[in-house]
Amino acid sequence: MVIEDLKEYAKINKVPIMQDEGIEFLTDFIKKNKIQSVLEIGTAIGYSSIMMAINNTNLKITTIEKDENRYIEAIKNIKEFKLEKSINVILGDALEVNIKDKFDLIFIDAAKGQNTKFFLKFSNNLNNSSYIITDNINFHGFTKHPEQIRSKNLRQLVRKINEYINFLNENKDYDTVFLDIGDGLAISHKK
Ligand code: SAM
Repeated sequence: MVIEDLKEYAKINKVPIMQDEGIEFLTDFIKKNKIQSVLEIGTAIGYSSIMMAINNTNLKITTIEKDENRYIEAIKNIKEFKLEKSINVILGDALEVNIKDKFDLIFIDAAKGQNTKFFLKFSNNLNNSSYIITDNINFHGFTKHPEQIRSKNLRQLVRKINEYINFLNENKDYDTVFLDIGDGLAISHKK
């Protein structure tokens, strides 16, 4: 199995995974900042975890997925890549799972309307002067142009992402920068 197979599976089965530009940034960021441990919220089929682990030997990843079928697929894929020692997948709703360990990086890539809840809950699991990165901040360009949205549900979701952007901007414990990389990333650095 090669990485392209995972991308193909995701495409066929409509599993949302990180865009190329986003995952490239993330793996480089881990290298440059000498990150040793990552907590990921939203495993899907394991693609981003596998990419982070392949590009950073010795990196330890804990990743949480609530969908059982995706969890099973992720476990299978991680085994195929022989990364069981690097990646620990937890099945469950991240808002109900309790994790004691601390991490150098928390990567939030799950239900987009729940970002603030994930951030508040897992900021307790962050080492000092570490990072929280959130994906899909631009949400296909809609967060910058909400007037283009026709569906009520989508409008609500985009409103929540914009509330999260305000929450990050006003959070005095973190410095956040927003990057137009992939679908938009927020990099929050704990002071
Ligand atoms: N990070 C993955 C990648 O790039 O390969 C993609 C993750 S996908 C965008 C989001 C995943 O988060 C979905 O598989 C979804 O089932 C999961 N998810 C959503 N809400 C969750 C929650 N509260 N707890 C755990 N997983 C959740």
